[in-house]
Amino acid sequence: MRPSTLKRERLASEAPSVKPALLVSVHDVSPLTLEASRRMVDLAVSNGVPLNALTVLVIPRHEDRAPLDEHSSTRDWLHGLAEAGACLCLHGFTHRMSGQARSPWQWAWAQGFARGQGELYLSDAADCERRLEAARAIICRAGLGGDVHGFVPPAWLLSPAASGVVRQAGFAFHERLCGIFAGDVILAHRLIGFGSLSAFEARMTAAHAWLQSHRRPADTRLAIHPADVRRDDTVEAIRCTLRRLLPRLTPMNYMAFLRSHPAAASPS
Ligand SMILES: [Zn+2]
Repeated sequence: MRPSTLKRERLASEAPSVKPALLVSVHDVSPLTLEASRRMVDLAVSNGVPLNALTVLVIPRHEDRAPLDEHSSTRDWLHGLAEAGACLCLHGFTHRMSGQARSPWQWAWAQGFARGQGELYLSDAADCERRLEAARAIICRAGLGGDVHGFVPPAWLLSPAASGVVRQAGFAFHERLCGIFAGDVILAHRLIGFGSLSAFEARMTAAHAWLQSHRRPADTRLAIHPADVRRDDTVEAIRCTLRRLLPRLTPMNYMAFLRSHPAAASPS
């Protein structure tokens, strides 16, 4: 092997920036899930994800009954996470879907995949605008207005009308099932998520995580939910997935990832 080749390979293995990103997000954070959310953050941190490499998805009025601005413990905890460098995102307004599916295909996604939690999947533009406005008002009253950068719709689902509204809403990025949308590009297509509603779902999603984490390294989103703490096997699957991926990927939050990515529009 020629010396120049050796040098190039050594530089590539030494430079942390050449590793793809591991983008860990904690979903569904609200007053209703505070203790379980803390445990999921602790799980990620204790297994090697720095606090400032986490992306935290906040629901302003979870289930239409838990306003974040009126719950000081959740508010203070989120302030602390933001000060520590975590990236906060808006995660819908109530998280609950309203409206009726108009086709078997829509029903399958709404109830089968999202289980009635795809808040914006059936929204028209006016409904989506109203929810975003109400969500932002709560976030601002909670003193977190300057800390929320992106938008992740519940279950990653948006109706076509809601998609148009979210794109124009001034977020630095938003996320769908297929990746993170920033400007004209879609990044980090690979997604690992865990389900915990049944033993079957836990086993299937753990198997999917195992398969995904053995593929050639690529920018990878890893989504964990407070509900995952209810199942020991899911917690163990998350722990194993993190241990498998962290040596090969660089943990970073969504904003840091976009700032580091040449293809993304420069988010502020
Ligand atoms: Zn969610």
